[in-house]
Amino acid sequence: MRPLPELTPENTAFWTGGAQSKLMIAFCGACDKAIHPPQVICPACQSRDVSPREVAGSGTVYSYTVNHQPWLPDMAVPFAIAVVDVDDAPGVRVTAPVTGCAPEAVMIGQRMHIAFEPSGEVWLPLWTPLEGAAA
Ligand SMILES: [Zn+2]
Repeated sequence: MRPLPELTPENTAFWTGGAQSKLMIAFCGACDKAIHPPQVICPACQSRDVSPREVAGSGTVYSYTVNHQPWLPDMAVPFAIAVVDVDDAPGVRVTAPVTGCAPEAVMIGQRMHIAFEPSGEVWLPLWTPLEGAAA
């Protein structure tokens, strides 16, 4: 089991959106900036009009790493962790483990789609390759 995040009013939408298979990203209502991790105040214009919005759930691999170290008991290794530029949320990158393909098959520029794994009261994000949509 991965370490779980502590839920706060501003991050609950992100960590529980998986219950509806939705990737929820915080946006500023004043300047439309996408804000991740979620914050109470927009870092661009200091507005407090920040609220979560559903995005497509797809994205492009910006970078990735392959983990070979079992940091936790029962952790299966190796596995890839991808940093993905999220579609519809300029500047937002979500880092999550990759499922659905071999770690060595992950590539920069690869198209991914979000998936979720329930754990306690949160839904942990995972990236999975979007078949047939390679960049
Ligand atoms: Zn703003």
